[in-house]
Amino acid sequence: MQDAVTFDPRPADEAASAAPSTSSADAPDAQAKREFNKLQKRLRRQAGNAIIDFGMIREGDKVMVCLSGGKDSYTMLEILRSLQRSAPVNFSLVAVNLDQKQPGFPEHVLPEYLDGIGVDYHILERDTYSVVKEKTPEGKTTCALCSRLRRGSLYGYAEEIGATKIALGHHREDILETLFLNMFFGGSLKSMPPKLLSDDGKNMVIRPLAYCREADIAEFSRRMEFPIIPCNLCGSQPNLQRQVVKDMLADWEVKHPGRLESMFKAVTNVAPSQLADRELFDFAGLEDQQAKRQADRIDLHQES
Ligand code: SF4
Repeated sequence: MQDAVTFDPRPADEAASAAPSTSSADAPDAQAKREFNKLQKRLRRQAGNAIIDFGMIREGDKVMVCLSGGKDSYTMLEILRSLQRSAPVNFSLVAVNLDQKQPGFPEHVLPEYLDGIGVDYHILERDTYSVVKEKTPEGKTTCALCSRLRRGSLYGYAEEIGATKIALGHHREDILETLFLNMFFGGSLKSMPPKLLSDDGKNMVIRPLAYCREADIAEFSRRMEFPIIPCNLCGSQPNLQRQVVKDMLADWEVKHPGRLESMFKAVTNVAPSQLADRELFDFAGLEDQQAKRQADRIDLHQES
């Protein structure tokens, strides 16, 4: 049995030292700095809790942090680095970016950033862009094939470098959006789990930002001034249905504050006997259960 991990937030003053560097001339006012520290502590606490709740990181793990250049993956890397400094177990981080050879991809951005912060990294070059363009019929969305190829490349590379965990930057809203998309279009009640064993059993995927709000991540990313790489370089239409669901959730959150929190809680609090999946619950065996309970009750009655 390996050690459990405790990822307590550092004291506020230490967290503050990781705030974006500012010269005295453009230093944010004290209030803004306090807000930033609170935001950073919240993200650390939520990621730490998710890591503990799902047993995501253990002693000696080599965590491959998938870095796309978007706000979520930058934030995940920063929060994991911060947690790594105070965690009672040792684990290593290696950032991996998949350069999919999209036209206009700014190759220098991530290496410059990662060299600057002193994180080990690899840039994996795979021309999935050409494959996707070649195989996808005109007018069809390219994202499904692109994602499959990306996942295959990253899983294979994780094995090559001996990574024991693959960290992805999905957050609470990604999980809820996927839940609704699967209900609306897939006829299944499933989403993105915080921890997942790949189908072939070779890779373990973790989502340390599973409890984090997208708005917090966006604000953190803005304050940290991460060098964001736009995600529309492929020229593909974004997934329109995902955008519809995203807008629906955002609208609910405005009109009914707390609804997303409650829905996310529901994902962690499933009652199979109150649904209708015969694989998950033995409805056919309810009579047997009933007979057993009645027999138990009679025994109890006779003993007393
Ligand atoms: S938007 Fe472009 S890069 Fe992103 S998944 Fe779709 S096809 Fe791939």
